[in-house]
Amino acid sequence: MPELPEVEVLARHLRPLLRGKIIRAVDVRREKVLRPTSLREFQRALAGAKFTGLSRRGKYLLFQLRPKTGDESITLLGHLGMTGRMFLLKQNEQLPKHAVVIFDLGRENFVYEDTRYCGRMTLDVSPVENLGLEPLEPHFSIKVLAAHLKRSRQPVKVKLLDQSLVAGVGNIYASEALFRAKISPKLPAKKLTLAQTKKLWRAIRDVLAEAIRFGSTVQLKFADGKSDGLFYFGRAPGTPDFYEERLQVYDRAGKPCANCRYPIKRIVQAARSTFYCPHCQKV
Ligand SMILES: [Zn+2]
Repeated sequence: MPELPEVEVLARHLRPLLRGKIIRAVDVRREKVLRPTSLREFQRALAGAKFTGLSRRGKYLLFQLRPKTGDESITLLGHLGMTGRMFLLKQNEQLPKHAVVIFDLGRENFVYEDTRYCGRMTLDVSPVENLGLEPLEPHFSIKVLAAHLKRSRQPVKVKLLDQSLVAGVGNIYASEALFRAKISPKLPAKKLTLAQTKKLWRAIRDVLAEAIRFGSTVQLKFADGKSDGLFYFGRAPGTPDFYEERLQVYDRAGKPCANCRYPIKRIVQAARSTFYCPHCQKV
């Protein structure tokens, strides 16, 4: 599932490609992904609109558009869910089987594809209203992180997935940040010492920033399936698996820890997998 770095890289990739493009027609093949916006409302607002900007908040994409008539700008919210992809295709290229929303931009189509239909493309922007801090922005301070953790009895790993605390951190980068900070994922959030909180703060920022830096070097080629933007796996044929090696604990159960060679362990917390080194992350 795409997390902050993947969505950030996608936003940077799409921003210059979409800027200035006008939507000539809107084709929706699964109305479910528009909810709660109706098909009628969606098409009426977006047909003829021009893409003016694109930003990211948490794991959401926020497309800015200028409508065909009127001055009030439109925000279109996109979310990839588990399996969503967004990309441009030349007009003569075949649309993928699971294309869900297709914006006709003239020479190209902007396609949202989703095999499980659990992502979103909607005019309802309320999901971003309750998001927590952006971990790479200056307002995400050690003090703020400490205050949030102190209020929670949940295991720190579970708390890190709470999007009202840190927006955009998901299962992969929560495990990675805790490994880097040498903190047990099972430690109750309120039990972290100030020294641990500082290490965790640094680790969250570092793992995300490194992933964005890495992802920015991967050429995104969605249409031919060569690189789908899920660069943390790097399993696409013909591409080296170097990002997989950069992940030190996620999906590495039984493999040796990079620090101590002890086998990485998988546990389940709040119905999600957690990967950690029981030797390096004792407390
Ligand atoms: Zn270890």
